[in-house]
Amino acid sequence: MSWDRVEQLLGTDNLKRLAQKKVAIVGLGSGGGLVALHLAMSGVGHFVLVDDDVLEEGNIVRHVADRRYIGWHKVDAVADLIHHRNPHAQVEVRKGRIEQHADALDHIDILVSAVDGEGPKYVLNQFALDRNLPAVYAGVYERGEGGDSVVIYPYDGPCYACWAAELREEIAQAMGEAGQELDYGMIGPEGTLEAEPGLWLHVTRVATTQAQLVLNELLKGTDVYEPMPGNTVILANSALEIVSGQINQPQTAVWVTINRDPHCLVCGDKLRNRAELTGEQADISLDDLMDATGIVMQEKDED
Ligand SMILES: [Zn+2]
Repeated sequence: MSWDRVEQLLGTDNLKRLAQKKVAIVGLGSGGGLVALHLAMSGVGHFVLVDDDVLEEGNIVRHVADRRYIGWHKVDAVADLIHHRNPHAQVEVRKGRIEQHADALDHIDILVSAVDGEGPKYVLNQFALDRNLPAVYAGVYERGEGGDSVVIYPYDGPCYACWAAELREEIAQAMGEAGQELDYGMIGPEGTLEAEPGLWLHVTRVATTQAQLVLNELLKGTDVYEPMPGNTVILANSALEIVSGQINQPQTAVWVTINRDPHCLVCGDKLRNRAELTGEQADISLDDLMDATGIVMQEKDED
């Protein structure tokens, strides 16, 4: 198969570089499936796909895999789709929850979090910090009105836990000033995305942005790498008030930089200093974290 056109855009050396890169994608629903295909079609050569779900009839209107894949594990369906685009891609599939497959995150270049629930994102956050692994997260807001994506570098800027706490505070304030109820989909009663995260076209706009951020990170240090104006991009699909009194018009995006919380329970200085002194991993139990953040672990991911 021919990669001429991608090669013309990225350069021969950069395409070779991408062919050597290994990306782990956790969550192969609407967002993760598309991120996988985007990266495969940009020349990324190695994948680890982690998900425990089987593709059902109800998924078909919001998934890269169509009716032919009903009954397949999502990881197998997406692996098959990747191979139809790039037969040379190496794809490792892991069926189950990420907790059962933490070793899938060893020896990879970047982690893509495409899980819906907040609970699994905190698990991934800890795994990424433990492995000094950059990670790109994405979330879609209620009814697909918008979404966001963030690039997290371990101990350089916020971890996912302090990022989420800070962004939510900001949003709560913005909504409060406007005298509105907070209806940010990411904060459902279970601390998870609400049940209806929008149409495929809403989800895929966010997933496409996430894939671009991942690709950019994989090309860091090359002539095609583009520095971003912040660590977080917020996408408005509909008119959305997301940052302090500012209305984001439909189909716009705004960049913000969320800072690290020095007192963060996960990446805070105290914990880290202690870990460095004792040479032990700073370990805080997930339950403690959930209590502190008011997040409730989700049992099962939809989508
Ligand atoms: Zn943190």
